[in-house]
Amino acid sequence: MALIVQKFGGTSVGTVERIENVAERIKKFRDRGDDIVVVVSAMSGETNRLIEMAYQIDEKPNAREYDVLLSTGEQVTIALLSMALNRRGVPARSYTGTQVHILTDSAHNKARILDINELNMRTDLDQGRVVVVAGFQGVDEKGNITTLGRGGSDTTAVALAAALKADECQIYTDVDGVYTTDPRVVPEARRLEKITFEEMLEMASLGSKVLQIRAVEFAGKYNVPLRVLSSFDEPNFDSDGVNGTLITYEEDKMEQALISGIAFNRDEAKLTILGVPDKPGVAHGILGPVGDANIEIDMIIQNIGADGTTDFTFTVHRNDFVAAKAVLNRVSNELGAREVIGDEKIVKISLVGVGMRSHAGIASKMFKALAEEGININMISTSEIKISVVVDEKYLELGVRTLHSAFGLAEKQS
Ligand code: ADP
Ligand code: ASP
Ligand code: MG
Repeated sequence: MALIVQKFGGTSVGTVERIENVAERIKKFRDRGDDIVVVVSAMSGETNRLIEMAYQIDEKPNAREYDVLLSTGEQVTIALLSMALNRRGVPARSYTGTQVHILTDSAHNKARILDINELNMRTDLDQGRVVVVAGFQGVDEKGNITTLGRGGSDTTAVALAAALKADECQIYTDVDGVYTTDPRVVPEARRLEKITFEEMLEMASLGSKVLQIRAVEFAGKYNVPLRVLSSFDEPNFDSDGVNGTLITYEEDKMEQALISGIAFNRDEAKLTILGVPDKPGVAHGILGPVGDANIEIDMIIQNIGADGTTDFTFTVHRNDFVAAKAVLNRVSNELGAREVIGDEKIVKISLVGVGMRSHAGIASKMFKALAEEGININMISTSEIKISVVVDEKYLELGVRTLHSAFGLAEKQS
């Protein structure tokens, strides 16, 4: 008998039928004797629908009210799932984030979990109930409803698993694990049996939305056994450990691949300020005001010019492109730069793997493979376990497929 936190994402609870299906699955675990805490997302498409309505009313919706609105999606699913469980003779009780008391800071739309009161949940579990918790939401110390950022139900699940010291946190979704890359883009992508926290964190931050970044951070920090699996497959109670993908520590016996996966991000935009006088303080003069405008900067490149001027390029989230360009135009005048140019149609493709630490030549292999397909690289950035390139949007699919095959990711590595 184990205590398991099971999280079901939007597609997994997308219709009444799917919710009934999830209830059946939970019943099987209960019949086996497991204690279950369930976290659910809003039905698929619901959060987007709510967001669209908010923007119809105000292009800068009030942050507090935005969270009140968005949190309703998950409230619908906890109630429906609890009804489906109760009707099957599986006693269940639903809780919103406020009712559990998932305490967060007050950063509306991207709040962080500070503390969880697990008392109510413990009492229910002791009395044989399944506890059904709304994902993606919490409450600040003043009682305001907060939300945790898109994909935040993953983080709710991991945080509950940590608070309850659960035996495992299972993230059920519409694919049966973490793949070498998004299987929607590369059908030959291969499911990984295991991936390290460190690699998963890179994959998530470089654009693989299969897990929210904070959920991976949290699981790594609190040592929560985390598994990604499909809600569309039958539970396989005989095959302990081989279902889905386990996120684990490097010390464990791992398939020590050079490259574990390829992540990509379609939400990037690039800005360049040309002909800036090349003198100390220029980088701060440009990026300071961008930071002051609350715009996050990703990659940065500064070129050395021959005539005492320099060109400076950086990338931002596509949603911030217009605002960043406005800041740069202003800065350009102040600094006496020549011109500001921008490109909204770029993407970032990244290779991730802990094996990179001990192997040279991966970058050159990557650049060669892209060159052979005529894909021009605009920017490059590297760290210990990843290499990222920025390319034109039109090369995204080709670039990812090319690298996936150049590094032989479809085949199991030894
Ligand atoms: P949920 O609604 O269950 O939270 P998400 O849409 O957030 O599901 O995440 C699952 C999706 O993540 C998959 O359908 C897949 O297209 C995408 N994805 C991106 N990268 C990967 C990857 N490396 N492995 C598996 N899925 C990935
Ligand atoms: N419903 C929220 C979203 O769509 C949270 C989640 O699904 O994890 O982002
Ligand atoms: Mg998700």
